Amino acid sequence: MEQGLLTETDPVVALIDIAGIRASAAALRIAFEEVTGAPVLHAFAVKAAPLVPVLRLLDSEGIGAEVASPGESALALAAGVRPERIVLDSPAKTRAELTEALRLGIAVNADSLQELDRIDTLTGAGTGTGTGTRTASAAGSGLGPGLGPGSGGSRLGLRINAQIGAGAIGALSTATATSKFGVALCDEGARERVVRACLDRPWLTRLHTHSGSQGLGLELMAQGVLAVYELAEEINAAAGRQQIDTVDIGGGLPVNFASDEEDPTFADYARTLRDAVPGLFDGRYGLVTEFGRSLLAKHGTVLARVEYTKTAGARPIALTHAGVQVATRTVYDPASWPLRIAAYDAKGAPKTGAAVVQDIAGPACFAGDLLAEARELPLLEPGDTVAALDTGAYYFSSHYAYNSLARPGVHGFLADAGGVRFTTVRAPQTVAEIVAESGGDRPDALL
Ligand SMILES: *Cc1c(COP(=O)(O)O)cnc(C)c1O
Repeated sequence: MEQGLLTETDPVVALIDIAGIRASAAALRIAFEEVTGAPVLHAFAVKAAPLVPVLRLLDSEGIGAEVASPGESALALAAGVRPERIVLDSPAKTRAELTEALRLGIAVNADSLQELDRIDTLTGAGTGTGTGTRTASAAGSGLGPGLGPGSGGSRLGLRINAQIGAGAIGALSTATATSKFGVALCDEGARERVVRACLDRPWLTRLHTHSGSQGLGLELMAQGVLAVYELAEEINAAAGRQQIDTVDIGGGLPVNFASDEEDPTFADYARTLRDAVPGLFDGRYGLVTEFGRSLLAKHGTVLARVEYTKTAGARPIALTHAGVQVATRTVYDPASWPLRIAAYDAKGAPKTGAAVVQDIAGPACFAGDLLAEARELPLLEPGDTVAALDTGAYYFSSHYAYNSLARPGVHGFLADAGGVRFTTVRAPQTVAEIVAESGGDRPDALL
């Protein structure tokens, strides 16, 4: 408040805790160093915070990037993440995306056997028929020396759906019987087809699984990893060599949104995995991880000014500038995504006073645009500030353009004895930019 970050033109801002991100990155590295001596690539799931300076900060902490679209790939490259530290997942990669990833040496996890056929075709490493009668080789790669699969270029894997079942949030559970992701391992004949597909492609050296995001227990997540480890062992036994040398265990470590406590921790998860799947940690397998939410959620905050207050049906309501545009999931599915709200006065001091049940509403024009409903807080007044806590992942960074509300500015901060220093990560979107992005340069296009 003293430094004037919240203004009349920018009544909502997002803050990122630089030291907090560094600490979480270090905790992640240490957690896995303690359970395996094999190489581990931690690839941050870019969709959780698609901001170039954040990716660069993570890169400086030894964390690579997991990407799932041309935009996310470009962000990771713009952040200076080296291609060999980038992993491309996505259920709908185009030929152009695959070609570019293979050219650059970005690791690719194929989502289906169809996609393996497509990679065969693109690299000249197979016929693309997927019939399993031919032993593919990278020798005929059309990508030039060093760029074909298995020849020092892209590391290639196959995503497996171990079909272990759903967690608490259906929309984020990727290992259900009918999930759209990966090869459904328990379906009739699928296991045999996967083993065959791997044996036919000696350059296929990774298996990938990601069972879901938020709402999954550690034991369930470990079951998914166990299933994929057992498949890797089966493939390696059939190949008579360690063809699968790396298992990508995905992300999905749940975040505690109810308090400041980080629970579970990366160390809890790493130990759970080692206990459930000891063979994966005996040094024979490299690992890739793809954590998103658990690295960033606790290190972001949305601040918004209370513009007006009113009562309706005796319920006090604070009309703020933070709503569906920055907290989309919470607004549309409040039961699955409750957020803690902190209240501050006009000077930024924690608001005091008796707790009153009130709604914290956003600025968008639909009734459901509530950051929190029936929440007990000191009674808010115009000019106060509310903070939506734990919003560092999947919130302000994944703006929703409803009502043409501007993307808020994002500022990193470092606090030390000298005070708090802010640095802009993303400038607030201007009204002129909104017009330009909305066909403003061709108003007559439909006349
Ligand atoms: C979303 C996603 C992640 C990250 O999930 P978090 O819950 O944010 O850790 C990792 N891998 C894949 C394939 C994903 O789709």
